[in-house]
Amino acid sequence: EAAEASFIANNPSSKKYHNEAVEYLPGGNTRTLLHTSPFPLAIHKGQGTYVWDEDGHQYTDLVGELSAGLYGHSHPVIRKAIDSTLVSSGLSLGATTRLEREYASLLCKRFCLDRVRMANTGTEANLHALAGARHFTGRRKVVVFSGGYHGAVLSFDGGKPSANTVDRDLFVVAKYNDTSAAVETIRTTDDLAAVLVEPMQGAGGCIPGTEEFLFAIRQASQEKGALFILDEVMTSRLAPHGLGVELGLKPDMVTMGKYLGGGLAFGAFGGRQEVMAVYDPRVAGCLAHSGTFNNNTLSMTVGCTALRDIFTEAACKAFNERGDRLRDKLNAASHGTRLSFTGRGSLIGLHFTELGLRNITCGEDVRGQERKDLRDLFWFEMLEAGFWTTRRGFIALMLDIEDQQLETFVDSVVAFIARH
Ligand code: PLP
Repeated sequence: EAAEASFIANNPSSKKYHNEAVEYLPGGNTRTLLHTSPFPLAIHKGQGTYVWDEDGHQYTDLVGELSAGLYGHSHPVIRKAIDSTLVSSGLSLGATTRLEREYASLLCKRFCLDRVRMANTGTEANLHALAGARHFTGRRKVVVFSGGYHGAVLSFDGGKPSANTVDRDLFVVAKYNDTSAAVETIRTTDDLAAVLVEPMQGAGGCIPGTEEFLFAIRQASQEKGALFILDEVMTSRLAPHGLGVELGLKPDMVTMGKYLGGGLAFGAFGGRQEVMAVYDPRVAGCLAHSGTFNNNTLSMTVGCTALRDIFTEAACKAFNERGDRLRDKLNAASHGTRLSFTGRGSLIGLHFTELGLRNITCGEDVRGQERKDLRDLFWFEMLEAGFWTTRRGFIALMLDIEDQQLETFVDSVVAFIARH
């Protein structure tokens, strides 16, 4: 309560803007995730790896736009790409362009895909991938995993499809990382078109899939004649060719998005040529894949330039190693406490559990013993220490974050632990 009172006292502008926003937006909000009580902190601007709120406080940005903000807020290469695209190409051109061809070629080579198609969000990428899988197999059902998040209308938190999930009855939800139960579910589900899985659950708490689990469900999908679709919307940044390739998973389809737009709206889905051929307009009976902004000039050029010139394979590797070192330090500092850190590379999940669980393999491990009070307190106190984190405990590092910022963060976590 003291932390909340101090938040209210320190952020009069955020409070004022929230009160104004509720007059027009339900709950003052247009992205549910960003709503926090008593009111959300209103961010005024971002520069490099920092953000400033409406009352002028400066924070190191550890939200990283939920992994889409990999390049920070003002990368010079990205600014230049935006400027030169506006000058040389203009905005959306209502035509196929050289820009989309170039980016498609880079994405296919980098992520080992035969064919790829662009969309505007990760949600769309997954919806199109599922439609493609249904068309390809002539079947309808999809196995997904508890805690899985595949977009606004494809969410499976708590073991069932969220109220706004599309075609809810067509999803069968299995437990993440429970190999034998998942294989059994795949084997016994009739009319199965696809298995859709994140190789590491992102929104579900940064929980990596075990290799045993991921390979077993891929095998079971194959035996069933269903497509194995990897949702790499978050995880493609974790290894030079994406996490699936790193693990050797060989999915039929892959979905991507987030940072691959270079900070602009983006989604993509791709995979094996025979499967992606369902979207070939030269083929009778193909599926239509439309979207006014699918190939908009800015997302194509900025995404392409950033991936090619900034997030090179070497940069990706070094960056994720830094993330691993940070997680190790945080886990060493919190050893024996109720706080623990999960994830892989540059994506980190924070968990406050009554028993101080270390080996978290799925959301069910945590359920019932979560210490939301400590999690909220952590958020308030990290703001005071100058760190912008998500309330639910998800950290996505930005590429250019400095060692000094990370060291100060570790110190702040150590001080938090000592206080509570
Ligand atoms: N899939 C995963 C694994 C995600 O983490 C997200 C977003 O957080 C999505 C899909 C949806 O992407 P978007 O928010 O761009 O629709």
